[in-house]
Amino acid sequence: MRMWERWLMNDCIFCQIAAKKVPSKIQYEDDEIIAFDDIAPKAPVHILIVPKRHIESVNELKKEDIELIGKVILVAKKLAQEKGLKGYKLVFNVGREGGQLVDHLHLHLLGGMV
Ligand code: AMP
Ligand code: ZN
Repeated sequence: MRMWERWLMNDCIFCQIAAKKVPSKIQYEDDEIIAFDDIAPKAPVHILIVPKRHIESVNELKKEDIELIGKVILVAKKLAQEKGLKGYKLVFNVGREGGQLVDHLHLHLLGGMV
């Protein structure tokens, strides 16, 4: 691991959750992805689906990340089905002006509003 990667892991809240240094209510996990309940839910079901590798935002995505992001969306679909959601929202906030507060890419799964 490079120095800057180590620094990010210590600094970034979602890297710390992925490394189990910070507790979370985990809903799904594999080698590449972790999904956990949002600490301040904006809907009855509010889960964050997060690639474990530190990618800052959608703006930093590269072609080689296409498969990973596809998997992130499929995990969201699987969780929505498990939670019995007939409809739901999937949201990537991008950058401060897009409402992104945590600079580690994550997909919001929001459901149960209606
Ligand atoms: P965003 O505004 O798109 O960056 O979303 C960040 C989300 O992370 C917000 O909905 C926060 O409530 C959530 N969040 C921040 N810290 C934690 C944490 N320790 N555990 C779970 N969710 C968190
Ligand atoms: Zn991170």
